[in-house]
Amino acid sequence: MPTNVELIARLAHIDEKLDDMHEELGELPKQVKKLEDKLRQRRRLVEETQKALEEIEHYRTTMRLRLQEFADKESKLQQVQFSGQVRNNREFDAITKEIEFIRSERTRIEQELAQSEIKKENLHGLLERQMSDFEEARAELQQREDELSSLSSEQDNEFRALQSERKAIIEQLAADWYAEYERIRTYHADAAVYVHKGSCSGCFSAIPPQVQVEMRNQPDRMFVCEHCGRILYPEHYRIEEEELM
Ligand SMILES: [Zn+2]
Repeated sequence: MPTNVELIARLAHIDEKLDDMHEELGELPKQVKKLEDKLRQRRRLVEETQKALEEIEHYRTTMRLRLQEFADKESKLQQVQFSGQVRNNREFDAITKEIEFIRSERTRIEQELAQSEIKKENLHGLLERQMSDFEEARAELQQREDELSSLSSEQDNEFRALQSERKAIIEQLAADWYAEYERIRTYHADAAVYVHKGSCSGCFSAIPPQVQVEMRNQPDRMFVCEHCGRILYPEHYRIEEEELM
């Protein structure tokens, strides 16, 4: 029958492993959630740019049509001007003014089209970068999701094994020891620690030599660190990885 000190050392080791597993798994779902938000955000940016590009295309189509209309109108006016149908100078001048107006409008539209061409090219460049950012986020998310699902199933077996080992230990451990251990666990995750070179390995304060002697002579008495309150056990009870599994 193992002593309470031995059992507490094993329990401390199992709980450390379980805590590590929780931490590992605990971070991943959070990371996945964060990446999902990032992906949504990047998709929104892509959609915004696509919309801006559609608008600019629509604008350019409209402007090109107007340009064509003005060109048609100008050639018609020129035909009228030189057809011999113009009755007087005033009418001729009026047509000339209209043609001038049309020409200045055409110049203005052509300038706007040239500017919008630059804007369009910039937007295409932006869209390309945004798409690659989006793909990058998507790949990252996929990777984390894969990790999470493989880790969950991997951990599942290990978790079950540790839980059953823990249960077996608790069944043998004195009830007051377990209660004290759990109480300390609420403020120190490592509630039971070994003595290393005469010091508490939880808070590194020195253990009085007399207490160290008592620990050796009274193997079934509970000793706690005066400084941090953790349960102490001799270093030779410390569990190495291969012993447990
Ligand atoms: Zn301590």
